[in-house]
Amino acid sequence: MTTDLITRRAQRLGPNLPTFYDDPVHIVHGEGAHLWDACGRRYIDCYNNVAHVGHCHPHVVEAIARQAATLNTHTRYLHEGILDYADRLTAYFRHDLSQVLFTCTGSEANDVALRMAQAVTGKTGFIATDNTYHGNTTAVAHLSTRRPPIGGWPDHIRRIPAPDSIAPLGGSLAAQPQAFAEGVAKAIAELKAAGHGFAGIMLCPVFANEGLPEVTEGFLAPTVEVVRRAGGLILCDEVQPGFGRIGTAFWGHERLGFAPDVVTLGKPMASGHPVAAVVTRPDIMAAFREAFGYFNTFAGNPVSMAAAAATLDVIEAEALTRHGEIIGAQLLDGMNALTYPQIASLRGAGMFLAMEFSDALRPNGAPVPHSANALCGRIVEGMRTRGVLLGRVGRQQHILKLRPPMPFGAAEARDVLAALGDCLESEQTA
Ligand code: PMP
Repeated sequence: MTTDLITRRAQRLGPNLPTFYDDPVHIVHGEGAHLWDACGRRYIDCYNNVAHVGHCHPHVVEAIARQAATLNTHTRYLHEGILDYADRLTAYFRHDLSQVLFTCTGSEANDVALRMAQAVTGKTGFIATDNTYHGNTTAVAHLSTRRPPIGGWPDHIRRIPAPDSIAPLGGSLAAQPQAFAEGVAKAIAELKAAGHGFAGIMLCPVFANEGLPEVTEGFLAPTVEVVRRAGGLILCDEVQPGFGRIGTAFWGHERLGFAPDVVTLGKPMASGHPVAAVVTRPDIMAAFREAFGYFNTFAGNPVSMAAAAATLDVIEAEALTRHGEIIGAQLLDGMNALTYPQIASLRGAGMFLAMEFSDALRPNGAPVPHSANALCGRIVEGMRTRGVLLGRVGRQQHILKLRPPMPFGAAEARDVLAALGDCLESEQTA
Protein backbone atom coordinates (compact mmCIF):
# COMPACT_ATOMS: atom_id res chain seq x y z
CA MET A 1 0.00 0.00 0.00
CA THR A 2 2.67 2.52 1.08
CA THR A 3 4.93 1.54 -1.84
CA ASP A 4 1.99 1.95 -4.20
CA LEU A 5 1.28 5.47 -2.91
CA ILE A 6 4.96 6.43 -3.23
CA THR A 7 5.01 5.20 -6.84
CA ARG A 8 1.78 7.01 -7.69
CA ARG A 9 3.06 10.26 -6.14
CA ALA A 10 6.22 10.12 -8.22
CA GLN A 11 4.30 9.29 -11.38
CA ARG A 12 1.56 11.86 -11.03
CA LEU A 13 2.95 14.61 -8.77
CA GLY A 14 6.49 14.65 -10.08
CA PRO A 15 9.88 14.21 -8.42
CA ASN A 16 11.21 15.82 -5.25
CA LEU A 17 7.85 16.12 -3.52
CA PRO A 18 9.04 15.88 0.07
CA THR A 19 7.93 13.16 2.44
CA PHE A 20 9.15 12.68 5.99
CA TYR A 21 11.00 9.49 7.02
CA ASP A 22 12.96 6.81 5.18
CA ASP A 23 9.75 4.84 5.14
CA PRO A 24 7.01 7.49 4.73
CA VAL A 25 4.03 7.38 7.09
CA HIS A 26 0.54 6.92 5.64
CA ILE A 27 -1.75 8.81 8.00
CA VAL A 28 -5.48 8.13 7.83
CA HIS A 29 -6.94 9.68 10.97
CA GLY A 30 -6.24 12.32 13.59
CA GLU A 31 -7.68 13.25 16.96
CA GLY A 32 -6.30 15.70 19.53
CA ALA A 33 -2.52 15.30 19.64
CA HIS A 34 -2.60 11.85 18.02
CA LEU A 35 -2.42 10.49 14.49
CA TRP A 36 -3.14 6.97 13.24
CA ASP A 37 -1.56 5.27 10.24
CA ALA A 38 -3.23 2.90 7.80
CA CYS A 39 -2.15 -0.11 9.87
CA GLY A 40 -3.93 1.28 12.93
CA ARG A 41 -0.74 2.36 14.69
CA ARG A 42 -1.11 5.43 16.91
CA TYR A 43 1.51 8.19 16.97
CA ILE A 44 1.95 11.13 19.29
CA ASP A 45 2.08 14.20 17.08
CA CYS A 46 4.94 16.50 18.09
CA TYR A 47 5.16 18.17 14.72
CA ASN A 48 1.88 19.63 13.51
CA ASN A 49 1.27 23.21 14.57
CA VAL A 50 -1.41 23.63 11.89
CA ALA A 51 -3.84 21.40 13.78
CA HIS A 52 -3.43 24.00 16.52
CA VAL A 53 -6.41 23.08 18.71
CA GLY A 54 -5.93 19.39 18.01
CA HIS A 55 -6.67 17.21 14.99
CA CYS A 56 -10.33 17.17 13.97
CA HIS A 57 -11.57 19.16 16.95
CA PRO A 58 -15.36 18.54 16.97
CA HIS A 59 -16.21 22.22 17.48
CA VAL A 60 -14.18 23.23 14.41
CA VAL A 61 -15.43 20.31 12.32
CA GLU A 62 -19.02 21.19 13.16
CA ALA A 63 -18.53 24.91 12.39
CA ILE A 64 -16.99 24.14 8.99
CA ALA A 65 -19.72 21.62 8.10
CA ARG A 66 -22.54 23.93 9.18
CA GLN A 67 -21.25 26.90 7.18
CA ALA A 68 -20.39 24.73 4.15
CA ALA A 69 -23.99 23.53 4.14
CA THR A 70 -25.29 27.12 4.27
CA LEU A 71 -23.18 29.33 2.03
CA ASN A 72 -19.67 29.68 0.71
CA THR A 73 -18.75 32.56 -1.56
CA HIS A 74 -16.27 35.41 -1.96
CA THR A 75 -16.00 38.74 -0.16
CA ARG A 76 -17.59 40.92 -2.84
CA TYR A 77 -20.92 40.27 -1.16
CA LEU A 78 -21.63 41.41 2.37
CA HIS A 79 -21.36 38.80 5.11
CA GLU A 80 -21.13 39.02 8.92
CA GLY A 81 -18.67 36.14 9.24
CA ILE A 82 -15.61 38.03 8.06
CA LEU A 83 -16.47 41.11 10.13
CA ASP A 84 -17.23 39.25 13.35
CA TYR A 85 -13.99 37.33 13.09
CA ALA A 86 -11.97 40.43 12.13
CA ASP A 87 -13.35 42.21 15.22
CA ARG A 88 -12.31 39.32 17.46
CA LEU A 89 -8.90 38.88 15.86
CA THR A 90 -7.87 42.54 15.94
CA ALA A 91 -8.87 42.74 19.62
CA TYR A 92 -5.82 40.54 20.26
CA PHE A 93 -3.49 43.29 18.98
CA ARG A 94 -2.20 46.57 20.36
CA HIS A 95 -0.19 49.33 18.65
CA ASP A 96 -3.19 50.37 16.49
CA LEU A 97 -2.92 47.13 14.50
CA SER A 98 -6.64 47.34 13.90
CA GLN A 99 -7.26 46.36 10.29
CA VAL A 100 -6.94 42.99 8.62
CA LEU A 101 -6.61 41.61 5.11
CA PHE A 102 -7.28 37.91 4.63
CA THR A 103 -5.32 35.56 2.38
CA CYS A 104 -5.23 31.78 2.00
CA THR A 105 -1.57 31.10 2.84
CA GLY A 106 1.24 32.54 4.89
CA SER A 107 3.17 33.07 1.66
CA GLU A 108 0.45 35.31 0.27
CA ALA A 109 0.24 37.19 3.56
CA ASN A 110 3.99 37.85 3.49
CA ASP A 111 3.79 38.88 -0.16
CA VAL A 112 1.17 41.46 0.80
CA ALA A 113 3.29 42.62 3.75
CA LEU A 114 6.22 43.31 1.41
CA ARG A 115 3.94 45.30 -0.87
CA MET A 116 2.60 47.27 2.10
CA ALA A 117 6.15 48.32 2.94
CA GLN A 118 6.75 49.29 -0.69
CA ALA A 119 3.53 51.31 -0.75
CA VAL A 120 4.38 53.21 2.44
CA THR A 121 8.05 53.90 1.70
CA GLY A 122 8.15 53.98 -2.09
CA LYS A 123 11.31 51.85 -1.78
CA THR A 124 12.13 48.27 -2.75
CA GLY A 125 14.98 47.15 -0.47
CA PHE A 126 14.25 44.39 2.04
CA ILE A 127 16.16 42.59 4.76
CA ALA A 128 15.72 39.05 6.09
CA THR A 129 18.02 36.66 7.94
CA ASP A 130 20.42 34.36 6.12
CA ASN A 131 18.78 31.19 7.37
CA THR A 132 15.07 31.65 6.95
CA TYR A 133 11.90 30.75 5.09
CA HIS A 134 8.92 33.06 4.70
CA GLY A 135 7.00 31.34 1.90
CA ASN A 136 6.85 30.46 -1.75
CA THR A 137 5.62 33.33 -3.91
CA THR A 138 8.35 34.65 -6.20
CA ALA A 139 8.85 37.80 -4.13
CA VAL A 140 8.81 36.04 -0.77
CA ALA A 141 10.98 33.14 -1.96
CA HIS A 142 13.69 35.73 -2.59
CA LEU A 143 13.90 36.18 1.18
CA SER A 144 14.29 32.47 1.76
CA THR A 145 17.66 30.86 1.78
CA ARG A 146 17.07 27.25 0.82
CA ARG A 147 17.68 27.37 -2.92
CA PRO A 148 19.18 30.23 -4.92
CA PRO A 149 16.70 31.80 -7.35
CA ILE A 150 17.31 31.33 -11.09
CA GLY A 151 19.57 34.22 -12.04
CA GLY A 152 20.94 34.54 -8.50
CA TRP A 153 19.82 36.41 -5.39
CA PRO A 154 18.25 39.75 -6.33
CA ASP A 155 20.21 42.83 -5.36
CA HIS A 156 17.32 44.49 -3.52
CA ILE A 157 17.29 41.75 -0.87
CA ARG A 158 19.98 41.62 1.83
CA ARG A 159 20.38 38.59 4.04
CA ILE A 160 21.86 39.32 7.43
CA PRO A 161 23.41 36.86 9.90
CA ALA A 162 20.69 35.10 11.92
CA PRO A 163 20.92 34.87 15.70
CA ASP A 164 22.47 31.67 17.01
CA SER A 165 22.52 30.07 20.45
CA ILE A 166 25.79 28.16 20.13
CA ALA A 167 27.79 30.72 18.16
CA PRO A 168 26.07 34.00 19.09
CA LEU A 169 26.63 37.07 16.94
CA GLY A 170 29.04 39.44 18.66
CA GLY A 171 30.59 36.52 20.58
CA SER A 172 28.09 36.21 23.45
CA LEU A 173 24.35 35.98 24.09
CA ALA A 174 24.55 39.38 25.82
CA ALA A 175 26.20 41.00 22.80
CA GLN A 176 23.90 39.34 20.26
CA PRO A 177 21.00 41.88 20.16
CA GLN A 178 23.39 44.74 19.36
CA ALA A 179 25.39 42.65 16.89
CA PHE A 180 22.19 41.63 15.09
CA ALA A 181 21.17 45.30 14.84
CA GLU A 182 24.59 46.14 13.42
CA GLY A 183 23.97 43.59 10.66
CA VAL A 184 20.68 45.34 9.92
CA ALA A 185 22.33 48.79 9.85
CA LYS A 186 25.02 47.56 7.46
CA ALA A 187 22.42 46.04 5.12
CA ILE A 188 20.36 49.24 5.15
CA ALA A 189 23.43 51.25 4.18
CA GLU A 190 24.15 48.82 1.32
CA LEU A 191 20.57 48.95 0.04
CA LYS A 192 20.63 52.74 0.07
CA ALA A 193 24.01 52.87 -1.66
CA ALA A 194 22.76 50.47 -4.35
CA GLY A 195 19.81 52.79 -5.06
CA HIS A 196 17.05 50.48 -3.80
CA GLY A 197 16.35 52.37 -0.62
CA PHE A 198 15.02 50.59 2.44
CA ALA A 199 11.40 49.41 2.60
CA GLY A 200 11.51 47.05 5.57
CA ILE A 201 12.74 44.02 7.43
CA MET A 202 10.79 40.77 7.65
CA LEU A 203 11.43 38.53 10.61
CA CYS A 204 9.87 35.82 12.70
CA PRO A 205 9.93 36.91 16.37
CA VAL A 206 11.03 33.45 17.54
CA PHE A 207 13.26 32.84 14.49
CA ALA A 208 11.45 29.54 14.03
CA ASN A 209 13.03 28.49 10.76
CA GLU A 210 16.43 29.66 11.97
CA GLY A 211 16.22 26.93 14.63
CA LEU A 212 14.54 28.78 17.51
CA PRO A 213 17.68 30.47 18.92
CA GLU A 214 17.48 31.87 22.44
CA VAL A 215 15.94 35.35 22.25
CA THR A 216 14.46 37.12 25.23
CA GLU A 217 12.52 40.31 25.89
CA GLY A 218 14.23 43.33 24.39
CA PHE A 219 16.23 41.29 21.89
CA LEU A 220 15.01 43.35 18.97
CA ALA A 221 15.09 46.76 20.69
CA PRO A 222 18.35 47.89 19.04
CA THR A 223 17.12 46.59 15.66
CA VAL A 224 13.80 48.40 15.95
CA GLU A 225 15.65 51.63 16.64
CA VAL A 226 17.86 51.16 13.56
CA VAL A 227 14.88 50.32 11.32
CA ARG A 228 12.79 53.27 12.56
CA ARG A 229 15.66 55.69 12.08
CA ALA A 230 16.04 54.51 8.48
CA GLY A 231 12.31 54.94 7.76
CA GLY A 232 11.58 51.25 7.06
CA LEU A 233 8.76 49.02 8.28
CA ILE A 234 8.96 46.07 10.65
CA LEU A 235 7.14 43.13 9.10
CA CYS A 236 6.59 40.52 11.76
CA ASP A 237 5.93 36.99 10.50
CA GLU A 238 3.83 35.35 13.22
CA VAL A 239 2.93 32.35 11.05
CA GLN A 240 4.72 30.01 13.49
CA PRO A 241 4.60 31.59 16.97
CA GLY A 242 1.15 33.17 16.77
CA PHE A 243 -2.10 32.20 18.50
CA GLY A 244 -0.50 31.30 21.82
CA ARG A 245 1.93 28.60 20.72
CA ILE A 246 4.74 30.11 22.77
CA GLY A 247 2.70 29.92 25.95
CA THR A 248 3.77 33.06 27.72
CA ALA A 249 2.23 35.39 25.13
CA PHE A 250 -0.34 35.23 22.38
CA TRP A 251 2.13 36.69 19.85
CA GLY A 252 5.88 36.46 19.46
CA HIS A 253 6.25 40.24 19.23
CA GLU A 254 4.42 40.59 22.55
CA ARG A 255 6.96 38.28 24.18
CA LEU A 256 9.90 40.29 22.83
CA GLY A 257 8.13 43.56 23.60
CA PHE A 258 8.23 45.47 20.34
CA ALA A 259 5.62 47.12 18.12
CA PRO A 260 5.55 45.79 14.54
CA ASP A 261 4.03 47.77 11.68
CA VAL A 262 2.64 44.73 9.91
CA VAL A 263 1.93 41.25 11.32
CA THR A 264 1.33 38.18 9.18
CA LEU A 265 -0.54 35.09 10.34
CA GLY A 266 -1.22 31.65 8.91
CA LYS A 267 -0.69 28.00 9.75
CA PRO A 268 -2.58 27.54 13.08
CA MET A 269 -5.23 30.12 12.35
CA ALA A 270 -8.06 27.83 11.24
CA SER A 271 -6.97 24.35 12.29
CA GLY A 272 -5.86 23.26 8.81
CA HIS A 273 -8.42 25.14 6.76
CA PRO A 274 -6.33 27.45 4.50
CA VAL A 275 -6.68 30.80 6.25
CA ALA A 276 -3.98 33.44 6.67
CA ALA A 277 -3.99 37.19 7.25
CA VAL A 278 -2.13 40.47 7.39
CA VAL A 279 -2.88 42.75 10.34
CA THR A 280 -1.76 46.35 10.21
CA ARG A 281 -2.49 49.98 11.02
CA PRO A 282 -5.15 51.87 9.05
CA ASP A 283 -2.58 54.27 7.49
CA ILE A 284 -0.57 51.33 6.11
CA MET A 285 -3.67 49.51 4.86
CA ALA A 286 -4.80 52.71 3.11
CA ALA A 287 -1.42 53.16 1.39
CA PHE A 288 -1.47 49.52 0.26
CA ARG A 289 -5.03 49.67 -1.10
CA GLU A 290 -4.22 52.91 -2.90
CA ALA A 291 -1.12 51.43 -4.54
CA PHE A 292 -2.34 47.90 -5.28
CA GLY A 293 -6.06 47.37 -4.66
CA TYR A 294 -6.31 43.67 -3.78
CA PHE A 295 -8.77 40.86 -4.23
CA ASN A 296 -8.27 37.23 -3.29
CA THR A 297 -10.97 34.87 -4.58
CA PHE A 298 -10.95 32.39 -1.71
CA ALA A 299 -9.72 34.51 1.18
CA GLY A 300 -12.16 35.54 3.88
CA ASN A 301 -14.95 33.29 2.59
CA PRO A 302 -17.65 32.31 5.09
CA VAL A 303 -16.38 28.75 5.58
CA SER A 304 -12.83 29.95 6.19
CA MET A 305 -14.08 32.52 8.67
CA ALA A 306 -16.20 29.92 10.45
CA ALA A 307 -13.14 27.66 10.75
CA ALA A 308 -11.01 30.53 12.07
CA ALA A 309 -13.68 31.70 14.53
CA ALA A 310 -14.22 28.16 15.84
CA THR A 311 -10.45 27.77 16.29
CA LEU A 312 -10.37 30.95 18.35
CA ASP A 313 -13.37 29.69 20.37
CA VAL A 314 -11.39 26.58 21.33
CA ILE A 315 -8.18 28.49 22.11
CA GLU A 316 -10.19 30.63 24.50
CA ALA A 317 -12.52 27.99 25.98
CA GLU A 318 -9.71 25.50 26.63
CA ALA A 319 -7.21 28.20 27.74
CA LEU A 320 -4.67 26.69 25.37
CA THR A 321 -2.07 29.44 25.70
CA ARG A 322 -1.76 28.85 29.44
CA HIS A 323 -1.95 25.08 28.93
CA GLY A 324 0.95 25.35 26.45
CA GLU A 325 2.96 27.32 28.97
CA ILE A 326 2.47 24.69 31.69
CA ILE A 327 2.97 21.53 29.62
CA GLY A 328 5.76 23.07 27.54
CA ALA A 329 7.65 23.87 30.76
CA GLN A 330 7.20 20.27 31.97
CA LEU A 331 8.47 18.96 28.66
CA LEU A 332 11.48 21.27 28.70
CA ASP A 333 12.28 20.27 32.30
CA GLY A 334 12.12 16.62 31.32
CA MET A 335 14.34 17.22 28.31
CA ASN A 336 16.82 19.00 30.56
CA ALA A 337 17.07 15.86 32.67
CA LEU A 338 18.14 13.78 29.65
CA THR A 339 21.85 13.41 29.26
CA TYR A 340 23.79 12.85 26.09
CA PRO A 341 27.18 14.37 25.26
CA GLN A 342 26.05 15.78 21.94
CA ILE A 343 23.15 17.81 23.37
CA ALA A 344 24.49 21.33 22.93
CA SER A 345 21.45 23.39 23.87
CA LEU A 346 17.80 23.07 24.92
CA ARG A 347 15.44 25.96 24.56
CA GLY A 348 12.02 27.18 23.59
CA ALA A 349 8.81 28.62 24.93
CA GLY A 350 5.40 27.07 25.45
CA MET A 351 4.74 24.31 22.94
CA PHE A 352 7.70 25.17 20.73
CA LEU A 353 10.93 23.51 21.84
CA ALA A 354 14.32 22.77 20.32
CA MET A 355 17.14 20.37 21.17
CA GLU A 356 20.34 21.28 19.36
CA PHE A 357 23.08 18.71 18.80
CA SER A 358 26.76 19.39 18.30
CA ASP A 359 29.53 17.49 16.56
CA ALA A 360 30.99 16.41 19.91
CA LEU A 361 33.03 13.58 21.32
CA ARG A 362 31.75 10.54 23.18
CA PRO A 363 32.28 10.62 27.00
CA ASN A 364 35.36 8.39 26.60
CA GLY A 365 36.83 10.88 24.14
CA ALA A 366 36.30 8.73 21.06
CA PRO A 367 35.00 10.55 18.01
CA VAL A 368 31.26 10.30 17.42
CA PRO A 369 30.41 7.96 14.58
CA HIS A 370 28.30 10.59 12.84
CA SER A 371 27.81 14.33 12.68
CA ALA A 372 25.12 16.26 14.55
CA ASN A 373 23.11 16.19 11.33
CA ALA A 374 23.25 12.39 11.07
CA LEU A 375 22.53 11.99 14.78
CA CYS A 376 19.50 14.28 14.56
CA GLY A 377 18.25 12.35 11.52
CA ARG A 378 18.58 9.08 13.42
CA ILE A 379 16.71 10.50 16.42
CA VAL A 380 13.83 11.63 14.19
CA GLU A 381 13.65 8.15 12.64
CA GLY A 382 14.09 6.48 16.04
CA MET A 383 11.27 8.53 17.53
CA ARG A 384 8.99 7.53 14.68
CA THR A 385 9.78 3.88 15.41
CA ARG A 386 8.82 4.61 19.03
CA GLY A 387 5.53 6.20 17.96
CA VAL A 388 6.41 9.91 18.08
CA LEU A 389 6.39 12.22 15.06
CA LEU A 390 8.67 15.25 15.18
CA GLY A 391 10.89 17.30 12.87
CA ARG A 392 14.21 19.05 12.61
CA VAL A 393 15.60 22.44 11.56
CA GLY A 394 18.89 24.33 11.57
CA ARG A 395 21.65 25.08 9.08
CA GLN A 396 22.78 21.45 9.28
CA GLN A 397 19.31 20.09 10.07
CA HIS A 398 20.82 19.30 13.44
CA ILE A 399 18.14 20.73 15.75
CA LEU A 400 15.15 18.64 16.90
CA LYS A 401 11.93 20.61 16.73
CA LEU A 402 8.97 19.83 19.00
CA ARG A 403 5.83 21.72 18.04
CA PRO A 404 2.77 19.61 18.89
CA PRO A 405 -0.91 20.51 18.61
CA MET A 406 -1.73 22.61 21.68
CA PRO A 407 -3.91 20.03 23.52
CA PHE A 408 -0.78 17.85 23.89
CA GLY A 409 -0.94 16.95 27.57
CA ALA A 410 1.12 15.71 30.51
CA ALA A 411 0.63 12.05 29.53
CA GLU A 412 1.92 12.69 26.01
CA ALA A 413 4.85 14.66 27.44
CA ARG A 414 5.78 11.68 29.65
CA ASP A 415 5.63 9.27 26.71
CA VAL A 416 7.68 11.57 24.47
CA LEU A 417 10.34 11.97 27.17
CA ALA A 418 10.52 8.20 27.67
CA ALA A 419 10.91 7.67 23.91
CA LEU A 420 13.54 10.39 23.62
CA GLY A 421 15.46 9.01 26.60
CA ASP A 422 15.38 5.56 25.05
CA CYS A 423 16.52 6.92 21.69
CA LEU A 424 19.49 8.75 23.22
CA GLU A 425 20.32 5.71 25.33
CA SER A 426 20.51 3.53 22.23
CA GLU A 427 22.86 6.11 20.65
CA GLN A 428 25.20 5.75 23.66
CA THR A 429 25.46 2.05 23.12
CA ALA A 430 25.44 2.11 19.29
N1 PMP B 1 6.34 32.09 7.24
C1 PMP B 1 6.91 31.15 7.99
C2 PMP B 1 7.72 31.56 9.18
C3 PMP B 1 6.74 29.80 7.67
O1 PMP B 1 7.32 28.88 8.44
C4 PMP B 1 5.97 29.46 6.55
C5 PMP B 1 5.70 28.01 6.16
N2 PMP B 1 6.50 27.07 6.72
C6 PMP B 1 5.40 30.46 5.78
C7 PMP B 1 5.59 31.76 6.16
C8 PMP B 1 4.59 30.15 4.55
O2 PMP B 1 3.33 29.72 4.87
P1 PMP B 1 2.47 28.90 3.80
O3 PMP B 1 3.11 27.56 3.64
O4 PMP B 1 1.10 28.85 4.42
O5 PMP B 1 2.47 29.67 2.54
